[in-house]
Amino acid sequence: MTTIAFIGLGNMGNPMAANLVKAGHDVHGFDLMPENLATARENGITVMANAAAAVKDADVVITMLPAGKHVVSVYEDIAAQARKGALFIDSSTIDVDSARKAHAIAEKAGLLSVDAPVSGGTGGASAGTLTFMAGGSAKAFAQAEPILQPMAGKVVHCGDAGAGQAAKICNNMILGISMIGVAEAFVLAEKLGLSHQALFDVASTSSGQCWSLTTYCPVPGPVPASPANRDYKPGFAAALMLKDLKLSQEAAQSAGAVTPLGAEATQLYGLYNAMGHGDADFSGIIKFLRGDAA
Ligand code: NAD
Repeated sequence: MTTIAFIGLGNMGNPMAANLVKAGHDVHGFDLMPENLATARENGITVMANAAAAVKDADVVITMLPAGKHVVSVYEDIAAQARKGALFIDSSTIDVDSARKAHAIAEKAGLLSVDAPVSGGTGGASAGTLTFMAGGSAKAFAQAEPILQPMAGKVVHCGDAGAGQAAKICNNMILGISMIGVAEAFVLAEKLGLSHQALFDVASTSSGQCWSLTTYCPVPGPVPASPANRDYKPGFAAALMLKDLKLSQEAAQSAGAVTPLGAEATQLYGLYNAMGHGDADFSGIIKFLRGDAA
């Protein structure tokens, strides 16, 4: 049994921490929102008064927070309270620069650290089937992997500090672009009098095949579990897709990469969000492309 501090018990953090409890770990949790602490208690997590109290006796500290500024500020607050040699794992999706800053704070305090963002959404968090993309030293990763396993379907060591965030940002840029591509094809098919099922049957076994089509099809019917079948209830909210696309564009700018389709996808999701659809699933972008996203 390992004592694990879990900071950030929101939509993702709570079910992830619950899976660590189920795996037999002693989980000390903290969040700023009282309702999330109530859910944490129901999940068997020991709720602490603040983040510093949660990390004091912990062998491992996991953070699952909204953005880079929250992660850096929490690391600055708690690094000195942690046991020397403790392992810090940040699973939030944040910018690569903040991830590297968090690693530097941990290193200065004599801690091991891994950035380990996830793919798989709240469904994967509950089922314990998330994909973790990890960045950090071989020593830190070797210690992190068994801790991540009860929450994971797959754990990939992507490279040094920040490499996990880099992988996450690149993956989600593909996802944003490919969803728009698939949605555009369905809109064109509608105009051409081609049925959704016919396009799906052809493209899902042809060169147009991709996850946005076969797992997350943006029209109702061909893939019964996709959010299109429940009026685009998320799933993965358009606001989070926009956040990840913006991170991709910040990273592209700072690294000097040319990503014209990433830029266009960021703009389209920006417009879709600005029209008030940030809470809808990101596949709802098809309504915007049809011109009926009012
Ligand atoms: P969320 O808003 O539900 O949870 C974040 C939690 O952090 C909140 O409960 C908030 O109160 C807490 N928090 C903020 N500042 C804090 C502080 N200083 N101390 C303690 N708690 C603090 O968000 P989420 O959906 O759980 O996402 C968390 C992270 O995971 C984000 O970076 C997001 O991009 C990423 N992510 C989300 C999904 C998804 O489908 N929701 C999928 C993959 C990755």
